[in-house]
Amino acid sequence: MIIIMKPKASEEEIRKIKEIIEGKGLEVNLSKGDTYYIIGVVGDTSIIDPKKMQVLKGVDRVMKVQEPFKKANRRFKPEDTVIDINGSVIGGSRLGVMAGPCSVESEEQIVEVAKRVKAAGANFLRGGAFKPRTSPYSFQGLELEGLKLLKTAKQETGLPIVTELMSTDYIDTFVENVDVIQIGARNMQNFDLLKQIGKTNKPILLKRGLSATIEEWLMSAEYIMAGGNENVILCERGVRTFETITRNTLDLQAIPVIKRLSHLPIIIDPSHAGGYAYLVEPMAKAAVIAGSDGLMIEVHNDPENALSDGQQSLTPDQFDKLMDKVKVVANMEGKEI
Ligand code: PEP
Ligand code: MN
Repeated sequence: MIIIMKPKASEEEIRKIKEIIEGKGLEVNLSKGDTYYIIGVVGDTSIIDPKKMQVLKGVDRVMKVQEPFKKANRRFKPEDTVIDINGSVIGGSRLGVMAGPCSVESEEQIVEVAKRVKAAGANFLRGGAFKPRTSPYSFQGLELEGLKLLKTAKQETGLPIVTELMSTDYIDTFVENVDVIQIGARNMQNFDLLKQIGKTNKPILLKRGLSATIEEWLMSAEYIMAGGNENVILCERGVRTFETITRNTLDLQAIPVIKRLSHLPIIIDPSHAGGYAYLVEPMAKAAVIAGSDGLMIEVHNDPENALSDGQQSLTPDQFDKLMDKVKVVANMEGKEI
């Protein structure tokens, strides 16, 4: 339920309504803009009579929110959420670019890639230390050593780091050492993990599950937000369809759909979506045109010998060319990197 206040509603009128709602054990979500004041009600709203709320002083309208996601809902917060990580921004008029290898493999590799992607204009370094591999016999990542190497690359370049967390065991370590915690497609519905990271205040990059609907994805964001962490960035990375030539099918429609349903920023990962390097640039450009708030792109200094996802990784030279094109497209959309 949302209660839209009259533009001239007083602080006292708002306070009274908040008191009534909280008195019933429900949570209040306040959102204030230049021309509106919205009180969002989170919880079992069936115990509130909208007619009684409607006649309270200062109230303009009371509306039921049909969607099961509340804090992630644009009706609760009309303006876009912008997430600023020490000056690297995702959302609003900025295009955030996260680039780097699928897996951190060595100090030379991660530092070299970090320097190259920074020079090309990326504003975040990505790199997997804990890898969710389909086979238990594939490279599982350098784990804590990988985190250390990411920090070295951060010291060398100043780029904030984005890396995937797979287990609740490492939450404290990630909170301490990482700038953006990635929750991968395979863990999108690991509700315990979502609840635990919801208690932190780290920005979370929430990838869409392999076959998740948009509503399921937003409900996963809601799990994080319900714990108090509203710094959620959504990432579309392709969904599983009947198609087998590409790794996944990139759902570009998810961008305008998310923009309509939610205030959260959304970025696109064309690397995992297509599964091949030649698909990355066209899909990156299309994503920016479709309104994406950013990109996540796999870049490797030696894709042929990469320990994971080499076939979809760009070389630093290819990434330079992609960034030149993406900057032009971003400008057309009124966005800056
Ligand atoms: C990744 O970003 O390295 C990754 C494993 O992605 P996803 O969870 O989208 O498969
Ligand atoms: Mn990968």
